[in-house]
Amino acid sequence: MTQRAEYLAALGLEDWRQRRPLVAQPADPSPESPPRPQKASCAADSWDTVGGEVAGCLRCPLHQTRTSTVFGVGNRQADWLVVGEAPGAEEDRQGEPFVGRAGGLLNSMLRGIGLAREQVFIANVLKCRPPGNRDPKPEEVEQCLPYLERQIGLLQPKIMLAVGRIAAQNLLATDTPIGKLRGHVHRFGSAGIPLVVTYHPAYLLRSPTEKRKAWEDLKFARRVAAGASA
Ligand code: URA
Repeated sequence: MTQRAEYLAALGLEDWRQRRPLVAQPADPSPESPPRPQKASCAADSWDTVGGEVAGCLRCPLHQTRTSTVFGVGNRQADWLVVGEAPGAEEDRQGEPFVGRAGGLLNSMLRGIGLAREQVFIANVLKCRPPGNRDPKPEEVEQCLPYLERQIGLLQPKIMLAVGRIAAQNLLATDTPIGKLRGHVHRFGSAGIPLVVTYHPAYLLRSPTEKRKAWEDLKFARRVAAGASA
């Protein structure tokens, strides 16, 4: 099965053809390709420093109920940063974001646009699980978001994909409904990193008829990442 067909099957959609070809994806680097230049990182900060601070974080009461902190995972040279809400039960157990059922669907969604999970960086707005998977409290976001901002400073992604209302609204500091945030190129931070919004995979598992919209969002994000006028 092709990657595209696998993605569509995972979404429960038929394998229809594109009317217009999508912008070509960069080919996998061949062994002859020159090594990708390292991104210049903020001299005063490092992945190890942020990682150590997150691992020992006591900034909010969520440290009392967590099993593990969930720092984020993936390629630290990635062009894509995927941002979710907060760890769930399985993520809290394993210390890795998006490893439960929603994570499986997220992987399929990424594969559908030609991205392996290992090629992107995946993180959450919160590094610790809110008990019972309740929504993050504003004071928890306030304490935790600086970690994500530092990760963004180190990663310098070409595009950010906010999955779900909570990630989108907190990253964009808005209470606009997610339906209105989709389909636009937002800008994050002083660097103006392009940010695209889509539905959370857990929501898509509950509302499979919305998967088609998420597929449109992902294709849109891919065009934005490729620098096309989207
Ligand atoms: N949902 C999220 O938003 N993040 C995770 O890591 C897992 C589920």
